[in-house]
Amino acid sequence: MEKTFRLGIIGHPVGHSLSPVMHTTAAQITGINLEYDPYDVPPINLGRFVRNIRETGIDGLNVTVPHKVAVMDHLDEITVEAERIGAVNTILREGSRLLGANTDGYGFVTSLVENAKVNPAGKKIFIYGAGGAARAICAALGVMDGVEAVIANRTVGKAEELAARMTAAGASATALGYNANNLVDSVNTADIIVNTTSVGMKGFASDALPALEGIRQGQLVVDIVYRPLVTPLLRRAAVAGADTLDGLWMLIHQGAKSFELWTEREFPANPVRERLLRELGETI
Ligand code: NAP
Repeated sequence: MEKTFRLGIIGHPVGHSLSPVMHTTAAQITGINLEYDPYDVPPINLGRFVRNIRETGIDGLNVTVPHKVAVMDHLDEITVEAERIGAVNTILREGSRLLGANTDGYGFVTSLVENAKVNPAGKKIFIYGAGGAARAICAALGVMDGVEAVIANRTVGKAEELAARMTAAGASATALGYNANNLVDSVNTADIIVNTTSVGMKGFASDALPALEGIRQGQLVVDIVYRPLVTPLLRRAAVAGADTLDGLWMLIHQGAKSFELWTEREFPANPVRERLLRELGETI
């Protein structure tokens, strides 16, 4: 009999995650047996839950908020990339050993290269936000040749910390607060503009990002928020004549990498996207 992969996602809460639909759809298309369950694990139970994976026979897990950093203490090995990011979003069980990986940065870069046909190497990149997603994105960009990053965040200290990490990795990075005099100019001279903040997310604060008047034709504007698919930022970028890329592609590529680590099978990205668009209530 063919193996059934036993997988899931841990978070708190975890109810809104698209990962169960994403991975079960991919398994149906690929023709493999796969169970993928959401596990709502309060922080106090995290260590016990992860240690028990060895006995419960779970083959792998995705990890989401708020466990991405804390889970690292309970694993046997961490990939170089996850170590660089300082967070894990994928656990792979190899016998009794638990390996932690992070596929978020890969997902972001792959969405640019495959879906927007833009290679970030050698580009000037303006990044809004310095939270968990920004850490993964900056870690991936920081090891690419010739990236010049400007990181702007509401809390400037977090942008400074991220810029320092990128600089230590050999990249060029500077940090700005939202009231910096050169904010519009930094947006305007970038090749790629990325929103990694929660601004624009459905049900979230209706605050606008600053300095959007700097967006112009010839730039690529990326929003990693994917609820809604076309965010206020992407709508504004399209009006300004810039190219746009939605955040669902990043989500799909990070999931694809996790799926490939667990199953060693290729992930069917395009049909999975169609299924996720229906799940989000977006017209195709
Ligand atoms: P996080 O660690 O909580 O970071 C939140 C970021 O948003 C911080 O930079 C924060 O600034 C900023 N922010 C929050 N509220 C703001 C406001 N009202 N005005 C200005 N800035 C504000 O969250 P995260 O995990 O990085 O996730 C951020 C977003 O990315 C979420 O919408 C999430 O769904 C999305 N995401 C998408 C993908 C994907 O695959 N497409 C992957 C991961 C995350 P301060 O530091 O000043 O608080």
